[in-house]
Amino acid sequence: MESALLGRQITRAFIRRPDLRTPFPPDLGQVLTGARIVGFRRRAKYILMRLDRGQSVLWHLGMSGRIVINGPRDQKHEHVLLECEGGLHVAFVDPRRFGSIDLVATEAEDQHRLLAHLGPEPLSDVLTGAFLLAAFAGKRTAIKLALLDQTLIAGLGNIYVCEALFRAGIHPLRPCNAVRKREAGVLAAAIKETLNEAIAAGGSSLRDYVQASGELGYFQHQWRVYGKEGEPCPDCTGAPCTGVQRIAQGGRSSFFCPQKQK
Ligand SMILES: [Zn+2]
Repeated sequence: MESALLGRQITRAFIRRPDLRTPFPPDLGQVLTGARIVGFRRRAKYILMRLDRGQSVLWHLGMSGRIVINGPRDQKHEHVLLECEGGLHVAFVDPRRFGSIDLVATEAEDQHRLLAHLGPEPLSDVLTGAFLLAAFAGKRTAIKLALLDQTLIAGLGNIYVCEALFRAGIHPLRPCNAVRKREAGVLAAAIKETLNEAIAAGGSSLRDYVQASGELGYFQHQWRVYGKEGEPCPDCTGAPCTGVQRIAQGGRSSFFCPQKQK
């Protein structure tokens, strides 16, 4: 998406409805028309498309939203359509309408109400063992739930949390304050490894959002415990693995090996 759109001018903007989950800014069409796209940024589950007029478009794709570039037209669910120079068209398609679009001053992106409370990006230098240890101090919450909390770390999905805890050998029900210093360092590294491997396997940043199904690029990737209930995990080599277990935490599935993760 970035390479196709960067530097292009939006020649016309069609705003086909007044809202999705929240109302569109009344001047959305006006701001988009004639603007040039000068950059992209991803923050948690949001995409920021920066315009040459000091404003950024903040997209949240919700459950079913996707951005389709020069794809087949879907008039019914195509709520916003941008015609760009060179004949390129970009559609924001969202059948269930859980997504949102807003405008924010580029220099104040991080102060937007949807972004202001977010924790650091998992691949940023901020995420270290020391950071996790400080965040976990005094918390009796299960570590799995803490890691899914966007105010602690932004944009860390359920699958990644399951896989990172497995690699770090930490049980998903472990209270945060029972994580030791050495484990916090191992966990920080495990989070980054898990994400980097997924990205290498095709689930990369902005590209995730432009796939037809709206799913992140998970398909090709081999997970170690996620979705593997009842199967042996790959790490129990000495003693035979008793099998991956699944429990529900906060309405989401946690997969773990009770033998490896304590
Ligand atoms: Zn095992």
